[in-house]
Amino acid sequence: MSVFTKIIEGEISCYKVAEDENFIAFLDINPNAPGHTLVVPKKEENKLFDLSQDAYTNLMNFSYRVAKALERTVPCNRVGMSVIGLEVPHIHVHLIPLNAMADIQFKQKVKLSKDAFVTLAESIAVNFE
Ligand code: AMP
Repeated sequence: MSVFTKIIEGEISCYKVAEDENFIAFLDINPNAPGHTLVVPKKEENKLFDLSQDAYTNLMNFSYRVAKALERTVPCNRVGMSVIGLEVPHIHVHLIPLNAMADIQFKQKVKLSKDAFVTLAESIAVNFE
């Protein structure tokens, strides 16, 4: 069972941003930038392009709504998107508020307090439509 399935099943906590029947979005615990969010299908699968085209489109549509909430909440030049999955083999879309190329390179990380994570997640959640 992946660490994200444990989050989905409530065994591990997360800073939740959005959820529906099929997807959950929560803050990345080791963010590239404040507001770095992961969008995860609840059905555990490993690779993005093993999804059916419908499942892929649904994931992108949910990610679009989360990206819009990020744009409304976190000041940035734009929201970037990346799918990697080399660390956690459960499909997830990284949505990252970008100001510089370094923000999408997964080398430079920011440290946030628990309070900062909570406040960020709550303010993004309010702007999720
Ligand atoms: P990758 O599989 O390479 O796309 O990276 C996995 C991402 O998941 C990394 O950015 C981690 O910081 C993030 N991550 C791992 N465990 C957790 C967790 N429990 N809560 C939030 N994010 C996590």
